Amino acid sequence: MIANARIGDFAVNECPRCRKLVRSHYELRSVRLARTQLVVPDLMVDVCPTCDHMISIAPEALAQLREAGVSK
Ligand SMILES: [Zn+2]
Repeated sequence: MIANARIGDFAVNECPRCRKLVRSHYELRSVRLARTQLVVPDLMVDVCPTCDHMISIAPEALAQLREAGVSK
């Protein structure tokens, strides 16, 4: 788990789509939540550089999700 990730930071993660370790980076994206279909703009997420898959939502973005009224 990365503390205080920032936009443009790199991290090594396993991409669930590529099924390999990739050097992912953080960027801002509008994310549509699968459960509620709610779109949350400018969330910091971790993106695979190979297939452009969103690997995970950054811990810092969880506060934004709470503000959007999404409970875990
Ligand atoms: Zn990938």
